[in-house]
Amino acid sequence: MEERIEIHPRKGPNRIIGRDGKVAGLETVDCASVFDELGRFNPKFAPLSERVMAADTVIMAIGQTSDLSWIHPEDGIEITPRNTIKVNSATLATTAPGVFAGGDVSFGPRNAIDAIANGKKAARSIHEYIFGKKIEGIELDLREREVELIVHDTKKDRREWGYEKTQRVPVPTLAIDRRIGVAHVELGYSETQAIEESSRCLHCWVNTIFEPKGEETGTECILCGGCVDICPEHCIDLVALDRLETDDSLLAELESEYDVMIRGETERMVGSVMIKDEERCIRCGLCAMRCPVGCITMEEYTTSETYRI
Ligand SMILES: Cc1cc2nc3c(=O)[nH]c(=O)nc-3n(C[C@H](O)[C@H](O)[C@H](O)COP(=O)(O)OP(=O)(O)OC[C@H]3O[C@@H](n4cnc5c(N)ncnc54)[C@H](O)[C@@H]3O)c2cc1C
Ligand code: SF4
Ligand code: SF4
Repeated sequence: MEERIEIHPRKGPNRIIGRDGKVAGLETVDCASVFDELGRFNPKFAPLSERVMAADTVIMAIGQTSDLSWIHPEDGIEITPRNTIKVNSATLATTAPGVFAGGDVSFGPRNAIDAIANGKKAARSIHEYIFGKKIEGIELDLREREVELIVHDTKKDRREWGYEKTQRVPVPTLAIDRRIGVAHVELGYSETQAIEESSRCLHCWVNTIFEPKGEETGTECILCGGCVDICPEHCIDLVALDRLETDDSLLAELESEYDVMIRGETERMVGSVMIKDEERCIRCGLCAMRCPVGCITMEEYTTSETYRI
């Protein structure tokens, strides 16, 4: 739209109009519905809705499919009516022993992360096929696991000023009148822009660790509510247990973990809990700074693992 392209939604291409051996236009029909009653992609078009758009170039950009002409019947690799390679979705094995497939060629157009996940799944199946031994995630032979815990200094560690309000840095692009042919439109960030954009990262690997059990060390929560008041994102709250909608298993877990009796003699739940919405937390550290008894710290864990297959 920025390039003044007009978009005509809800149209289906009907035929290409030619004149003197050249393209003269595209005839379209209006789309009445896209999915059928079973929710399948099955467009229906309105009768007598043909319209011609004048054009000297028509670019086909729909209905991409895999070219499977290299698969021959004697290969034993079955192809589905959708022109995808038939696979067992649990193992990604094709119908030919020792041949595995995944990604768009097996499941039709999807997305990059599904294709990557398929690559991992297929690698496990191939390992099992060759060695006759299953790999189940953790059954890999763990050679080394290093865990590093960094406890931030609540008094000193600060994020850059205004980091949570920094606006996204737009990717520089070629001037509109120079976007011709196969010109590269998105030009990429300069070093300064890249640093500015990455400084918006909320560091979500840093966690608020609430330590309510430090009676002996004097770090037990005194329920002052200071952390709740100061949180700019309103993502933490102190809630009386009888206001918490929960099930018995969580209550039993809390009782055993903290060695307390949550349900008093009247079966009324006593005590309070701190609840937090991690997705809204911007890791500003203000709650930790505010806590008068030091029972909140900002901590981060990094783990690295090396496996032997
Ligand atoms: C225009 C477009 C935009 C997209 N945007 C996104 C997006 O923003 N985010 C997202 O997650 N996904 C996006 N996708 C989908 C994503 O690109 C695919 O789901 C993903 O690339 C599938 O990965 P794949 O490995 O299965 O197949 P592909 O990435 O298609 O890889 C198949 C490879 O096999 C090669 N090949 C084909 N035939 C042969 C042969 N006979 N011999 C040897 N090699 C062969 C091809 O050249 C190709 O390199 C987009 C797709 C398109 C078409
Ligand atoms: S780190 Fe900041 S945003 Fe997160 S809970 Fe504490 S005060 Fe709220
Ligand atoms: S600021 Fe500290 S003591 Fe006060 S409610 Fe929060 S965690 Fe408890």
